[in-house]
Amino acid sequence: MEGAGVHLRRGFGFGDTRETDPFLLFDDFRNDVPGNYVAGFPWHPHRGIETITYVLAGTVDHADSLGNQGELGAGDVQWMTAGSGIVHQEMPRGDEAGRMHGFQLWANLPASLKMTAPRYQDVKAADIPVITDDDGTRVRVVCGSFWGQSGPVEGIAAEPVYIDVSVPAGKRRTLPVETTRHAFAYVFAGGGKFGNASEPGPVTTDGVAAANHSLVLFDRGDEVTVEAGPEGMRFLLVSGKPLGEPVAWHGPIVMNTQEELRQAFAELQRGTFLRR
Ligand code: FE
Repeated sequence: MEGAGVHLRRGFGFGDTRETDPFLLFDDFRNDVPGNYVAGFPWHPHRGIETITYVLAGTVDHADSLGNQGELGAGDVQWMTAGSGIVHQEMPRGDEAGRMHGFQLWANLPASLKMTAPRYQDVKAADIPVITDDDGTRVRVVCGSFWGQSGPVEGIAAEPVYIDVSVPAGKRRTLPVETTRHAFAYVFAGGGKFGNASEPGPVTTDGVAAANHSLVLFDRGDEVTVEAGPEGMRFLLVSGKPLGEPVAWHGPIVMNTQEELRQAFAELQRGTFLRR
């Protein structure tokens, strides 16, 4: 339970960031019962991080201390760089069927950018490139470069590659991931197996079965192999360059040292938190 009472599933984000660095947290807020999400995330601060919200169904109304206001609809993405500080609210509103489906990822900012100017990038669904290969595998490139296409979200410190992949039933695909990166997959429809691309033949002995709601963390390697089950499989595949810096984290504020955290919360109390 987060915000003012939003039921969600947290893939990771329980404090130990070593395996997911530069990413801090991943929340799946898919829900079909409005009472479980309409209270939303009323006004709250962030500093030192970037948040990436990807909506699949329903809308999220947002507003912030920079004066931005708008709504995110199905297929839209919002990239928020909190930097030195922002106060915002994120209020989910379901669609006609009562569904509110989406994900929020937190990417850490390096020490050199923790106090950078805050900003928003809103990306409409139509501006996200979609690639379909001969096998029928479909990839939406939200951020970074993949199969020769570049996503519309730019200037993110962790230089993430964030793609939404749909693999048809029974198909096997090998997807490139840079070896210098940490990578994870999160399955949100159907299921299948993730395996080691160096093993010939179907992904069986070495594969990891993954169904809806599964998080798969990868060791460093240069590719990820997936084999969709009988219902096909849809998943996010996200990778980023580890920062390797100390993490001092309390709630919505993530700094490098405890002293910086103390300062941030003292500024909140004094009313001097916002620089812009
Ligand atoms: Fe927030």
